[in-house]
Amino acid sequence: MEYRQLGRTKEKISVIGMGCWGLGLSRDADEWAREIASVRRGIELGMNLIDTAERYSSGRSEELVGEAVKDCRDEVFIATKVAPPNLHYDAVIRACKDSIKRLDVSYIDLYQVHWPDPSVPIKNTMSAMERLVQDGLVRYIGVSNFSVSETDAARAALAKNDIASNQVEYALTNRSVEADILPYRVRERITLMAYSPLAHGQIARSIPGDILQKYDMTPAQAMLNWVTRSEQVVAIPKAGNIRHQEENAYSIAVRFSAADYEKMPSG
Ligand code: NAP
Repeated sequence: MEYRQLGRTKEKISVIGMGCWGLGLSRDADEWAREIASVRRGIELGMNLIDTAERYSSGRSEELVGEAVKDCRDEVFIATKVAPPNLHYDAVIRACKDSIKRLDVSYIDLYQVHWPDPSVPIKNTMSAMERLVQDGLVRYIGVSNFSVSETDAARAALAKNDIASNQVEYALTNRSVEADILPYRVRERITLMAYSPLAHGQIARSIPGDILQKYDMTPAQAMLNWVTRSEQVVAIPKAGNIRHQEENAYSIAVRFSAADYEKMPSG
């Protein structure tokens, strides 16, 4: 596994992490056990970045992540999110404590604002985030689905901390962040956490066979290799089954040449 620095911090996170949307959606305990086993296999393979949210499966995703990491909490980097309507100061504090309880941990590594909410002054949300850092409940602050100007406003609202990451949709077949969000992140050294990097499971069909053969990769692996080619990007594919998790972990075992990255189709 390859690791990259989180924003301007000294923290090292795996270039391929594990997205946990959908974990715990089923009511079937066998399915939960499979999902936990998949996360544990990812950890074994060096994927230390785990992304969840209070919203995912009404909190059940956080509970399953907690179960998966209970004997290795300090080896992993847990990112979770607070969502509207919880962006007012008191609600952020309460939501964070609830997430900590569901995760069954004593701190969250990266606490992210899931979506911006223009009806809540960003200063209000960011002051709560800084309070959580000061109290040792959160280590780093991140955002998600923030534009460049929204990120600037969040950074300006922070007194002692900086925004470490922005989680946005980015995949071979969806490159809209390349217009302004990606260049801004690279310039400002803010990690871009690429969500839905496998296009929600709609794996690209038009990747040239010669590239797949040359690097001995599946199309899904080629998508992850491509999306993480920049130093400022990490990706969080979701894999509910172990075979997918393993495939994703090995997606960056070798790097494509710059010329081959150029040949990767967007459709
Ligand atoms: P994704 O990662 O692009 O795709 C997930 C789908 O791809 C699942 O159906 C999965 O199947 C399948 N898959 C995984 N590995 C595969 C492989 N090697 N080969 C073939 N298929 C494979 O989509 P996503 O779940 O939307 O996004 C990933 C994560 O990003 C989420 O879990 C969440 O953490 C985050 N996210 C954040 C936001 C936000 O607003 N911040 C929005 C969406 C997502 P199996 O499950 O059967 O393995």
